[in-house]
Amino acid sequence: MKFLSGFSGFENNFSRFVNRFSYEEKRRSLGENAYFCGKIIFMRIDIITILPEMLEGFVRCSILKRAQDKQLAEIHLHNLRDYTADKWRRVDDYPFGGFAGMVMKIEPIENCITALKAERTYDEVIFTTPDGERFDQPMANTLSLHKNIIILCGHFKGIDYRIREHLITKEVSIGDYVLTGGELAAAVMADAIVRIIPGVISDEQSALSDSFQDNLLAAPVYTRPADYKGWKVPEVLLSGHEAKIKEWELEQSLERTKRLRPDLL
Ligand code: SAH
Repeated sequence: MKFLSGFSGFENNFSRFVNRFSYEEKRRSLGENAYFCGKIIFMRIDIITILPEMLEGFVRCSILKRAQDKQLAEIHLHNLRDYTADKWRRVDDYPFGGFAGMVMKIEPIENCITALKAERTYDEVIFTTPDGERFDQPMANTLSLHKNIIILCGHFKGIDYRIREHLITKEVSIGDYVLTGGELAAAVMADAIVRIIPGVISDEQSALSDSFQDNLLAAPVYTRPADYKGWKVPEVLLSGHEAKIKEWELEQSLERTKRLRPDLL
């Protein structure tokens, strides 16, 4: 561990850095199995929302579009109002107890989840909620290994708690702040999950060497020109010496994590 000199106390992080590869191997073997079995679709995400138009553009652009074009993922949007039985297509009602605000009703949500479950088995039925478990890279990694997941977007004061007790298997927050609805949380989750499916980003390694994979921030990146008005790219990156470049990358990751996010170490 010669190249860790100058980073005393970071030996632990070296093993974390190396652990990154066990995850990569796991993904790769999963990927190969899926190809060998002739399966094309890796993952299906069903998002239940009262505002499908808010997500329509997002899930059909960029990485999510590419993943779907390559048939590595499918993202389906379900308008909760299509699962109501009344002519006003109501999804909310007044809260018991006389509290302020409105609450999302049980029936449409249950109808929608039941209809989806009749078609396939789901690994998780996720509810987006500020009091849920905090979404992070390890959670994205775990969720990306699933085949089918549902993400339910809340609105108003939230959903009738009995849905959470009986139908939801995982509650997820994207941070300690309150959004108007769960759509942005579902978008954040879908993006983070789908981009690490093998084959979605052309250089698979590039997603796996991003920040937070094994609790390290990424090293800085540079492109041409090597010298811009005297602003120079670190010499080692121009050396072509692979081992030295890897050593530099690890040193940078450790140094930046220590300086910017010591809580990760
Ligand atoms: N009354 C709730 C907040 C409701 S906000 C409370 O105090 O906890 C309305 C909806 O937006 C929530 O049901 C949830 O689906 C979504 N939402 C808001 N903030 C979120 C966050 N940080 N993470 C995930 N979803 C969130």
